Amino acid sequence: MKKISIIIPAYNEEESLPFLYERLNKLMNEINNYEFEVLFVNDGSKDKTIELIKEMRNKDERICYVDFSRNFGKEIAMLAGLDYAKGDAVIFMDADLQDPPELIPELIKYWEEGYDDVYARRKSREGETWLKKFTSKMYYKVLQGLTRVPIQKDTGDFRLLDRRCVNALRKLRESQRCSKSMFSWIGYNKKEVLYDRDPRIAGKTKWNYRKLIDLAIDGITSFTTSPLRVSTYLAIPTFMLLGIYFIYVIAKCIALKVAIQAFQAIILLILFFSGIQIMLFGIVGEYLGRIFNETKNRPLYFVNEYNGEKEMND
Ligand code: UDP
Ligand code: MG
Repeated sequence: MKKISIIIPAYNEEESLPFLYERLNKLMNEINNYEFEVLFVNDGSKDKTIELIKEMRNKDERICYVDFSRNFGKEIAMLAGLDYAKGDAVIFMDADLQDPPELIPELIKYWEEGYDDVYARRKSREGETWLKKFTSKMYYKVLQGLTRVPIQKDTGDFRLLDRRCVNALRKLRESQRCSKSMFSWIGYNKKEVLYDRDPRIAGKTKWNYRKLIDLAIDGITSFTTSPLRVSTYLAIPTFMLLGIYFIYVIAKCIALKVAIQAFQAIILLILFFSGIQIMLFGIVGEYLGRIFNETKNRPLYFVNEYNGEKEMND
């Protein structure tokens, strides 16, 4: 029987856990052609989350847990989930029931059809502010603009991943993680499933705008080195301005038969030296970007098929 691991990062989720268990338990009992494992990653919760998980584990063998020594953040919790999951496929889910477990059979269905990454795309997002939806939309536009790797829109971490993807993701061990871009980066056959995102069942969101901004910056800087090119791009208009002003000043001096004036010389010098400085920054940035990419030490490729056989890439 194939095994499916449901990975749930949990940080101060004591209020949601009873509801979550009830819904998951019902669902797992309905699907009897798979073996299930619910792997909680307790991300240093300060409330009774771990006690509740241990209680569940006593009653139910399918519950597993990894208990972090402190709060490491959801991204790291997800990686730990991948490291400890034993399933042939894993499903990422939030603890607050914003991702409806009832979608799981559909995710499994497409997995059986041969898709490696079945991701759930939100049709709607209830209980989230207009501002949050707007900023998230703009952010993904910018992120997509910066890279050639296609990024899935309106998609969170709720998805099913085949063992191949799990093994691939485990090889990306950088500490500043942005799972979303990693899911895109590893490739493999992707399939979209639509769903309505529910509001959080209980408790409070762990995100605030500061954390979201951090996440956004991490997302961009971990995914692309394009911001480093800003300097190179700025150098071009600076030099163009220098050229135009230079021609203008010289032409004027010749036409009026006057000497170049001090302020004109100063403007020309400023443009010249700032252009050079910006350009040098750009050159440093190019090398920095290369060092950055090398230090991530990512595998250079993943194989989908070898002579018609599925490559496990282990
Ligand atoms: N989470 C975590 N560590 C953190 C913050 C959040 O493991 O430092 C978990 C949290 O318990 C939940 C999931 O990540 O299962 C999503 O968090 P939340 O619902 O607060 O985020 P939102 O849905 O509002 O984006
Ligand atoms: Mg949530």
